[in-house]
Amino acid sequence: MAIATINPTTGQVEKTFEAHDDAEVDRRIAEAQAAFEALKDTTFAQRAEWMNKAAQLLEDDADELGRLITIEMGRPIAAARAEVLKCAKGLRFYAENAEEFLAPEQLADPAKVNASAAGTRYAPIGIVLAVMPWNYPLWQVLRFAGPALMAGNVGLLKHASNVPQAALYLDTLFDRAGFPSGAFRTLLIPASRVESVLRDPRIKATTLTGSEPAGRSLASIAGSEVKHVVLELGGSDPFVVMPSADLEKATTVGVTARNQNNGQSCIAAKRFIVHADVYDEFVRLFTEKVAALTVGDPLDESTDVGPVATESGRDELESQVADAVAKGATVRTGGTVPDRDGWFFEPTVLEGITPEMRLYLEEAFGPVASIYRVASREEAAAVANGTTFGLSSAVWTTDADEQEWFINRLDAGAVFVNGMTASFPELPFGGVKDSGVGRELAAAGIREFCNLKTVWKG
Ligand code: NDP
Repeated sequence: MAIATINPTTGQVEKTFEAHDDAEVDRRIAEAQAAFEALKDTTFAQRAEWMNKAAQLLEDDADELGRLITIEMGRPIAAARAEVLKCAKGLRFYAENAEEFLAPEQLADPAKVNASAAGTRYAPIGIVLAVMPWNYPLWQVLRFAGPALMAGNVGLLKHASNVPQAALYLDTLFDRAGFPSGAFRTLLIPASRVESVLRDPRIKATTLTGSEPAGRSLASIAGSEVKHVVLELGGSDPFVVMPSADLEKATTVGVTARNQNNGQSCIAAKRFIVHADVYDEFVRLFTEKVAALTVGDPLDESTDVGPVATESGRDELESQVADAVAKGATVRTGGTVPDRDGWFFEPTVLEGITPEMRLYLEEAFGPVASIYRVASREEAAAVANGTTFGLSSAVWTTDADEQEWFINRLDAGAVFVNGMTASFPELPFGGVKDSGVGRELAAAGIREFCNLKTVWKG
């Protein structure tokens, strides 16, 4: 894939970029290594000052950056600006909490291990290679970079080839904020050159957010090099609705949960699993609200749903829907590619998805919702857990026992009750099964790339 900004609203190439050659990549790795030697001995207070400055820069640039996100990947402008501000909040969160998350711990009774003192400390490990996707071009990167730099690590970013201008903004952000030069840099390289970077002995660990094949490939290389890996891969999150749910609210939230970011979120609700007692009413309200979404130019403040980010992504969605329809699924609304420029797909609601259809098991990365009818909570949990994914989940019920029942049975990295899945700096984020390994955000996220060092004193 060329490294280029191609506006998904028009399909026009806006700007192309030359990949860095091997010498430039090597220079950037060396610079990152030098930055690590400087950063690892700085205090948390110093790092926090720089991190807060980076947050301030994002806030100052929010309008311009929001516009850039919209042009590069089609996210509606208000949500794009909100993404920038969320990033600033995330960086401030780690500026404030990193020292506490990484505080040394002392064993209360060191005599038990024949020591005068014993405990653990978190030490930084060096350069972490971050392979990141286009769908939240700043947030996905900064939720890694914030904790990494606060821990004293440094980062190299291989961003998705369709968001090079976001990648180049991030290339200078932490230098501008005062961090040692090169503490966080972009490598403008295609996916095919990730392997040689990851095999470089100066790279100590890696993280990837993106598709399952990319994650498997990166993890196998990391495995062969014995390097730590964190993966945030796809999801096909269930959104379970039981009879006691507030249907008005569940359908409003469900429409947002499915269609935000033009349907391209790993934690979007993708499969709506609805109890038969409330099924017809749910489908009626949900379909009505999806059909009322405003599809259009994402630079227009009133647009709810813009284009899919890439032509291949739109084509994939179209073929998944065509496959379902050919095998008997019913389209309640949408289902087609509108006659206009760009890579739009109409917000779609499908019923009657069966196991032989691709959508039963595959992730739909765009505004396509599948609704399933179930007769019991046991059947709801079986359908919810019936894919290879396990990122997040949502369940709507006002019955406290039923809430606990689902929390215990849903096989996912998170369960949101009477709400939609979202990521918060304060809460760990990550999946089970083929949705990934490891956690980002909160205390767990900053500890992922640290050496948990045991210290024993005789
Ligand atoms: P990819 O996984 O292909 O891209 C994500 C990142 O990984 C990009 O930087 C990409 O680089 C890089 N990459 C791709 N293949 C490899 C590889 N073999 N080794 C190392 N790096 C690699 O996602 P797509 O954009 O192609 O989207 C495809 C599907 O992935 C979506 O439909 C969705 O299902 C899932 N996805 C999930 C996301 C999530 O948030 N969990 C985000 C994005 C996608 P380059 O751009 O140069 O190819």
